[in-house]
Amino acid sequence: MTKQGILFHSLAVLVCILISPLSVFSREVIVDFDSQPLSSKQQAVVSQWLNYGLHAVANTLGPISQKSVPIKITATSASEPVPWGQVVRGKIDGIEMRIGQFNHLEELKSDWTLYHELSHLYHPLFAYRDFWLAEGLATYFQNIVMLQNAIYSQEEFVARMRAGLERGKAATRTHIGRLDKVSLNMWRLRAYQRVYWTGAAFFIEADALLKKSGSRYNVAQLLAQYQTCCRAKESEGASYSAREFVTRLDSLSGKKIFLPLYERYRTTKHFPEIDDEQLALLINVYPQIGQSLQ
Ligand SMILES: [Zn+2]
Repeated sequence: MTKQGILFHSLAVLVCILISPLSVFSREVIVDFDSQPLSSKQQAVVSQWLNYGLHAVANTLGPISQKSVPIKITATSASEPVPWGQVVRGKIDGIEMRIGQFNHLEELKSDWTLYHELSHLYHPLFAYRDFWLAEGLATYFQNIVMLQNAIYSQEEFVARMRAGLERGKAATRTHIGRLDKVSLNMWRLRAYQRVYWTGAAFFIEADALLKKSGSRYNVAQLLAQYQTCCRAKESEGASYSAREFVTRLDSLSGKKIFLPLYERYRTTKHFPEIDDEQLALLINVYPQIGQSLQ
């Protein structure tokens, strides 16, 4: 859920922005300045970026179910554009992000953090032992969103997915044991790569199995339907929340794919084998859709 391991030198500006990208939603912007405010030009760029991110994610996953998305931005002197982000669960789920140095909108758009955190808002909070499913979903869709919105080329997408899977595989040799147990202790163990990328592999396999089964839907399309039918009503943070979630995706697809895969993954001690064919399939399943917003 968070981008880890970054130190911050100062909290220069606190900017709270409530925005909503679709015309049916209300739009509210609340700015709380500290002594060194972002310039009005920088504020405009940040707002443009957040709107872009919401649209980019909606291009892949459909409109988000909640009517507004609170995003708290804290400006820091960090050298990278978006050094840290996390989801804040509450009555209305939101996001907190720290931003660092940036000169252009493109620098913010090419960072994955916003797409990752927004993807988390499409699923309910799961129990700690199921965090692999949550982080896998966000890691998978941050990359799919960046592919479909042409932030990554197809080649870069495949290279980044392959590199991530390799990191996950390497981390599985360090962080041994059942995936649910490692997920439960992810922060203490610093087992992020194993947890995040085993979860991403789950969704790669789910898309391959959906395709093989002849399903009309890919995972993103099922998640879009889930927003409409179910997201607002789902249990949050319960021991059964993840099982309920995957069961719902199975009923939406009319196939028995997610629950059996979940049962296999949650106790696995091994990193799944994902071949080049499965990665290449994603390029076909998720074609680039261009960008309606700039
Ligand atoms: Zn995450």
